[in-house]
Amino acid sequence: MDQKDKPCKQDAGAFQPVIDRNRCEGKADCVTVCPYQVFTVGTLPVEQRSGLSFLGRIKGRAHRWQQAFTPNAEACHACGLCVKACPESAITLVRTAVA
Ligand code: SF4
Repeated sequence: MDQKDKPCKQDAGAFQPVIDRNRCEGKADCVTVCPYQVFTVGTLPVEQRSGLSFLGRIKGRAHRWQQAFTPNAEACHACGLCVKACPESAITLVRTAVA
């Protein structure tokens, strides 16, 4: 396959999605759109809630602390679909240290 025909922009592991805990509302659009099963949605652990902003804590309670997680982050190919799909603009792609 020619480089121009590749569906994703980067080899796996060059970038990873980072989730803004003050923005995520666990709507799971990222879970649906990601072709590499990078995301799951689960409950934000109690120990991670204290670092949220005031608004982040209000949003967290309102959405029963459901947020996106990236248990398969190393599979990310940086296609950007999750960034576009997130209705809360909570996802950023960040270059990994090893890439
Ligand atoms: S950029 Fe693409 S491959 Fe990476 S997590 Fe988002 S949807 Fe998945």
